[in-house]
Amino acid sequence: MSVVEQYREIRAKMDKAARSAKRKPEDVHLVAVTKTFDVDHIRPVIEAGHRLFGENRVQEAQQKWPALRSEFNDIELHLIGPLQSNKAEDAVALFDVIETVDREKIARALKAAMEKADRTLRCYIQVNTGLEPQKAGIAPNDTLAFVDFCRNELGLVIEGLMCIPPADENPGPHFALLAKLAKEAGLTKLSMGMSGDYETAIEFGATSVRVGSAIFGSR
Ligand SMILES: *Cc1c(COP(=O)(O)O)cnc(C)c1O
Repeated sequence: MSVVEQYREIRAKMDKAARSAKRKPEDVHLVAVTKTFDVDHIRPVIEAGHRLFGENRVQEAQQKWPALRSEFNDIELHLIGPLQSNKAEDAVALFDVIETVDREKIARALKAAMEKADRTLRCYIQVNTGLEPQKAGIAPNDTLAFVDFCRNELGLVIEGLMCIPPADENPGPHFALLAKLAKEAGLTKLSMGMSGDYETAIEFGATSVRVGSAIFGSR
């Protein structure tokens, strides 16, 4: 199958998963994850009408997206990978949404970069639902206080929560935990689910899924 055919198949499966969860397909967005794929690989999906993309490294995104953005002016680009504070200004200049705010230092750096650039990006808080030491994200128990800090002390626009469940576990309980934390924090957006588990994530309330390899092929 071509990349565009794979893209259409994922979109169809997402719609089906939404309907079987008694949700509206238009309430579940697809962040097409393009990390490691070059512009020629991505372009057919844009030409097929898709506009929402995710990258996990600032530097890699800087090499691909400015040219595509000037060609297609309504693209929305999400940063879904870890951010270092010395890259905050670059990230603010390039992305529309930062999905990986997970500690005070980066929240403060983003706030400063947004003020300097006079640009407001929407943000998600990344939660380490599995408390994995090697993984980014705030601990579940600290999430509510951190959301409150980001919103009320820094004035960041926090839209929702994001998680990456442990690779070797059933993702359902992790998605349920993220949904519960979002509800407690008064947040309505949930970024969860990847190529292997996006249908499960939709069942648990994902408002966006981040799918790479199922569309673009293995990396
Ligand atoms: C790479 C990546 C994805 C997409 O993963 P696939 O398994 O290729 O769908 C989703 N979220 C994050 C944070 C990623 O880094």
